[in-house]
Amino acid sequence: MKITIVGCGVVGATIAYELSKIPGLEITVVDAQSTPVQADLTEYPNATGAALGVLMGAISKKEKGRNLRMRLAGIQYYNETVPELEALTGRSIPFNREGILMLEFSESLEVWHRLVEVRQKQDLPLEIWDQERLQFEFPFLDRAVTAIYSKSDRQINPVALTQALIEGAKLQGVNFQFGNKVIGRKGQQIQTSQGILESDYVVISAGIGTSEIEKAVDIRPVLGQAIHVRLPKPLSDKPLPVITGDDVHIVSLGNSDYWVGATVEFPNEAGEVLPPNRSMFDQVMQRAIEFCPDLKDAEIIRSWFGLRPRPQGRPAPVIEELEPNVLLATGHYRNGVLLAPATAAEVREKILSYRT
Ligand SMILES: Cc1cc2nc3c(=O)[nH]c(=O)nc-3n(C[C@H](O)[C@H](O)[C@H](O)COP(=O)(O)OP(=O)(O)OC[C@H]3O[C@@H](n4cnc5c(N)ncnc54)[C@H](O)[C@@H]3O)c2cc1C
Repeated sequence: MKITIVGCGVVGATIAYELSKIPGLEITVVDAQSTPVQADLTEYPNATGAALGVLMGAISKKEKGRNLRMRLAGIQYYNETVPELEALTGRSIPFNREGILMLEFSESLEVWHRLVEVRQKQDLPLEIWDQERLQFEFPFLDRAVTAIYSKSDRQINPVALTQALIEGAKLQGVNFQFGNKVIGRKGQQIQTSQGILESDYVVISAGIGTSEIEKAVDIRPVLGQAIHVRLPKPLSDKPLPVITGDDVHIVSLGNSDYWVGATVEFPNEAGEVLPPNRSMFDQVMQRAIEFCPDLKDAEIIRSWFGLRPRPQGRPAPVIEELEPNVLLATGHYRNGVLLAPATAAEVREKILSYRT
């Protein structure tokens, strides 16, 4: 059976890697970009290269439902698959297992106490730290009244991950065509800049590029900016969880390096993405400095932006059959790194139940 996957961000790459484990499939992945997703750019036309890779499962406020199940499945997948991929490819994938610490600036903890109870029943550890505990653990933090610590949540480097997924899939027989843009589709026949691709089954995981290929699907870009900073000395001499306050993440990269971000910038009323706006970013940095004052001495190493694929008027992500044997796996918006594994599992189920 011939399968074509359109788009090779983290979603397409995870699907390719998972399908590569099923015997008898002939898989081709096409992507418009001339190379796989790269590190250290300042502009990303898409999402994956720009992502911070924060994986918010137990700490998300969702108590139950599909989105929570997908989040938790994502974390479980990375716990198991990162060692598997590293062994298969010989690549290293930075994966922070120290959890996520969410700072709370108001006294009201009602919602969190309830969530701790819910998570206890789900066997997911969640702790509420008072100010004394917070000061003891991380004295460099200021202003927060309390914090919620989720040991089971994670952070992963999205570029290293995606490159390893591609490499792993290649080793298991998947064919990748970079620099090949999909222009149109008729049934399972795909028209690309390099010719026609015939397949039995098509998966469209082209992020914001989806709407260009499938006019009926409305996926819009939401700009995000983030920054890599270096401090004169590390915030702490112990490994740090991701620290989140006021919707800003501080991601420790080792030594004295950190990512700070990310902004969430919607298109204007005409649906146009506004150009990256330095002042939006400065506001995010300022919010981070308020709870982590040492950041005011940070040297800026790199700032960048990317475009998140947000489905218009419906929840993310969009996983559905457009027509028989043409499947959408797109619109992952703010959590595509976290949700990619559960998406890949759904795609796998659909392919396994494929009938001609
Ligand atoms: C600043 C920022 C921070 C983020 N932080 C997080 C985070 O902490 N945690 C998290 O889980 N998520 C985060 N995200 C969201 C996450 O990056 C996205 O949800 C995810 O990367 C979407 O992956 P994707 O593969 O669907 O899309 P993309 O990465 O956009 O990939 C789509 C691919 O399709 C290709 N394509 C498009 N059109 C065509 C075409 N016509 N023909 C062929 N190929 C095509 C593109 O070239 C691209 O490679 C963040 C995003 C941003 C911008």
